[in-house]
Amino acid sequence: MADKTEKRVAIITGASRGIGRACALALAADDRHVVCVARNVDKLNEVQAEIEAAGGSACVATCDIGDQQSIEAMIDKVFADHGRLDILVNNAGITRDNLLLRMSDEEFDEVIHTNLRSVFVACRAAIKPMMRGKWGRIINIGSVAGVVGNPGQANYAAAKAGLAGFSKCLAKEMGGKNLTANVIAPGFIETDMTDVLPDAIKDGVKTMTALRRMGRPEEIASAVAFLASEGASYVTGQVLCVDGGMTMC
Ligand code: NDP
Repeated sequence: MADKTEKRVAIITGASRGIGRACALALAADDRHVVCVARNVDKLNEVQAEIEAAGGSACVATCDIGDQQSIEAMIDKVFADHGRLDILVNNAGITRDNLLLRMSDEEFDEVIHTNLRSVFVACRAAIKPMMRGKWGRIINIGSVAGVVGNPGQANYAAAKAGLAGFSKCLAKEMGGKNLTANVIAPGFIETDMTDVLPDAIKDGVKTMTALRRMGRPEEIASAVAFLASEGASYVTGQVLCVDGGMTMC
């Protein structure tokens, strides 16, 4: 195994764009060594270059989080390369929206597999190195859809609500080992995921949101950076809605 990396090491899935990219930049700015994970290596390389240009430390790991072996191999390699793993941000996620009457088995299963099962696999693999370091932060990116529901997203909301229950169990199981586990539930954030929505829906979202606008990826990243910080040492098992006052849950 390589010598232990001095900085805390953070894995961020879905770091090639959107919220994950913003999280990678924020954690690197907080002096973490960031492992940027996704499938698109060119985009990941761009994020790594951006972090390094700002004086931060990062590397890239391509991984399809739909593939269990790919996740486990990636986490093993991070530990082998750095001798530690301190922070895991499970951010990568997909949507396959459809009304329940029309939702196919494939649409349901794919979203549960990518958005929920992958998090179980990643957390199970990550907690061993975290326990060895006697310190760990797991931050799972949920959604307000998992808190209050959203028409056309029964698959997505089930997966995101599942993350809340899963993370609370993890918090209770791992608290004695100085590991915390929390969920951030974003509202509507300006990324590729929401770019495809019709303007009428975006306008409706703004009307339902106390701050009357969609959020920016950096506004999720700053909450993630808090939960990953030393200052959040007594926060665990929480679902924090970062949604501009849309749900007030
Ligand atoms: P984007 O669609 O912009 O980005 C998704 C990221 O996930 C990309 O980096 C993509 O990388 C990665 N990804 C997707 N599938 C896989 C896979 N199979 N293996 C590895 N990486 C994958 O999404 P957002 O940034 O908007 O969303 C990030 C998270 O926040 C998601 O979990 C989403 O559900 C959640 N969220 C987003 C909201 C929003 O309004 N935007 C609201 C609430 C929650 P690549 O394609 O390179 O693999």
